[in-house]
Amino acid sequence: MSSKRDYYEILGVGRQASDAELKSAYRKVALKFHPDRNPGDPAAEEKFKEAAEAYEVLRDPRKRQIYDQYGHAGLEGTGFTGFGGFEDIFSSFGSIFEDLFGIRGGRHHGARGRAQRGSDLRYDLRLSFMEAAFGVEKSLEVEKREVCPACGGTTCEPGTQPEVCAQCQGSGQVTRSQGFFTLRTTCPRCRGTGQIVTRPCDHCRGAGLVKTLRHVSVKIPAGVDTGSRLRLAGEGESGAGGGPPGDLYVVVHVEPHDFFKREGRDVICQVPVSMVQATLGGEIKVPTIDGEKTLQIPKGTQFGDVFRFRGAGIPSLRNGDRGDQIVQVLVRTPTGLNRKQENLLRQFAEIEESKLGSKLKNMFKGSAKAAN
Ligand SMILES: [Zn+2]
Ligand SMILES: [Zn+2]
Repeated sequence: MSSKRDYYEILGVGRQASDAELKSAYRKVALKFHPDRNPGDPAAEEKFKEAAEAYEVLRDPRKRQIYDQYGHAGLEGTGFTGFGGFEDIFSSFGSIFEDLFGIRGGRHHGARGRAQRGSDLRYDLRLSFMEAAFGVEKSLEVEKREVCPACGGTTCEPGTQPEVCAQCQGSGQVTRSQGFFTLRTTCPRCRGTGQIVTRPCDHCRGAGLVKTLRHVSVKIPAGVDTGSRLRLAGEGESGAGGGPPGDLYVVVHVEPHDFFKREGRDVICQVPVSMVQATLGGEIKVPTIDGEKTLQIPKGTQFGDVFRFRGAGIPSLRNGDRGDQIVQVLVRTPTGLNRKQENLLRQFAEIEESKLGSKLKNMFKGSAKAAN
């Protein structure tokens, strides 16, 4: 048996309550039992969690229907387990408190100052075709904001201390009355840090961070292509107030190659061959990304014919399996022939014409037959 209280009762609304009524009822209960207003009160804490759970169910039409029909037992089957803790609640409903408390996430972070994660950085890296194909190690020059070496990020001039904020006595919060409510808001003087820096650090002008040029070494894996993105965790800017650093994203741009083109993992190239080579067949030398290779072309190779070196392409980023090199043969028509070469070709043509002539005769014979 569940000893849970009825969700409508918790929020103090009727079973026909509209979404707006639910929201305002939840806000009322949540504010009353908010942990910032009831520090160290376990009973209030329980009520606060209970209200969040009730609201979480009732604001969702599907869950609300199940609850209306089957009660708490019905929800157990849906995998709904309520909230683990305050952080869950604030991340779900923080915006409801925000306008009232004037604090992000509905909860202040004490007088320690806000820890903020550093910004992510982007670095556009140009690579040659071969560097992208085989991978390369690069040293990147990255300008980023890092913790000020003079003040260590405290923002105070070394040797000085921040003063306790007189307006909030260091709590980072001030209370303010509004009708029946007493509201706590972030102290406007110290912006919630509880401290006032009287002598800002000269080196960083009180920012706590300074621009620094860093060399970041990065191993580019074989097979990257234009648009590939590498994430270097923690190589972004330093966080403020002791927050973690951001990440550095390296975005790859591959320069075109004079001879090779790339299609996925395949390398494409075009190789000129002479009319005689194409006609008689033979060996031709072809550059590949591994160096020169010999390609055997057969007799009667035609313009545009395609040959393939298996496994001579670009490695896959996932498993290193290489694509192929595809070689397209472009047959060149000879130019600048001398008299002897021309005469030989004329002789060749005469033989070719008589062969072609008899073929044509046969063709006409055939079509004449077909016409009959
Ligand atoms: Zn400094
Ligand atoms: Zn203050």
